[in-house]
Amino acid sequence: MAITVRAVSPATTVKDTYHSEDDFLNELLWTGVRDTKLPNRTYLIASIKSKDGEDIFNKRFKNEPFLKHAEAVMLCDDDFGDAVAVHHDIEITLTLNYSPCSSCACELKIL
Ligand SMILES: [Zn+2]
Repeated sequence: MAITVRAVSPATTVKDTYHSEDDFLNELLWTGVRDTKLPNRTYLIASIKSKDGEDIFNKRFKNEPFLKHAEAVMLCDDDFGDAVAVHHDIEITLTLNYSPCSSCACELKIL
């Protein structure tokens, strides 16, 4: 993964100040930045670590348009389910480009 961010001068726009081969990260990181369009996808990175900081799980999820929010896709994912079921004393970090809706927030609360 490589993200390059150039210094912004008054003559440059956000659009030509970044370059990454990774569309997923581009969309996630630049959502809501002025002069960029709001993507109609939700990008979510789920990361699980043990209390000691050991990496247990890391996976990316996207919503399924008109079907499932990204959080719901994650909660239905077998790998995610296994990681949560097998390990105890874990820290789950979710990084998303949009806030969870109230229904997903409720689902996340019971994790
Ligand atoms: Zn939702």
